[in-house]
Amino acid sequence: MKQAQKDGTDASDTVAGYTALFESLLPPEGVAPLFESKTCTLCRTEQKGEASAFAVADYGHEEPKELQSPSLLRRKTPGFLLPVQFACCQKCRLRILTLGYLPALLTLLCTAPAVVCLADPHIMQRVKAPGMWAPLLLVLLAAGVGYLAGKVLRNVLRPRFAALTYLNPNEHPTVQALVEKGWFPLAEKPDGAYVFTKKRIACGLGTAPSKALRAFEPDEAADEAEPEKTAETPKADAAADDDPFAPLEA
Ligand SMILES: [Zn+2]
Repeated sequence: MKQAQKDGTDASDTVAGYTALFESLLPPEGVAPLFESKTCTLCRTEQKGEASAFAVADYGHEEPKELQSPSLLRRKTPGFLLPVQFACCQKCRLRILTLGYLPALLTLLCTAPAVVCLADPHIMQRVKAPGMWAPLLLVLLAAGVGYLAGKVLRNVLRPRFAALTYLNPNEHPTVQALVEKGWFPLAEKPDGAYVFTKKRIACGLGTAPSKALRAFEPDEAADEAEPEKTAETPKADAAADDDPFAPLEA
């Protein structure tokens, strides 16, 4: 593929080429329906909650090879980056965050009372009777118990929550279609793959609204800002765009 030149001619060709390549790596319906949905796309239940935020999970593709930036920390280095944005309801968000924070939360809940008790000179006097190691051991024990309790509780809750919410983005049908096209998750573990945001990412590749949906919802189209020129815009438009890769590199 040609390198971008300062005169702009080849740069446009290159951008158009990259855009066409990106487009070919998406499933036919693209990823826009995930963030355009008014109902939650992470609910597994028949009844979907009202979307109130976005859960973003980052994916990478080895193409284009010339855009890869090798990293010692990754097995696969991505060329293209794709933030998959799921419209998400409050309940799904709460379930995912609860599982993520349970061990830390229970560690804190168990450690804090131990520390508060030790702040009392009388209690401290008694606890440190065997030696100065005793108060420290007590705090460490409290933290350990809290952490373990958090882990156990998370393991108990996880299957229940997993029946209601796509806790692992890789299990989502749209993501499975992406994986078939060669996309891979950038998060090391599925737990913690989501980052939540109130406002969706609206610039960069893979963030353009789907025209198909807009055609059915004319009011929606009027509400939208200027259409972003990304992979899902026609190639000629994309070629005229300044630099669709810039936001991803920031
Ligand atoms: Zn939901």
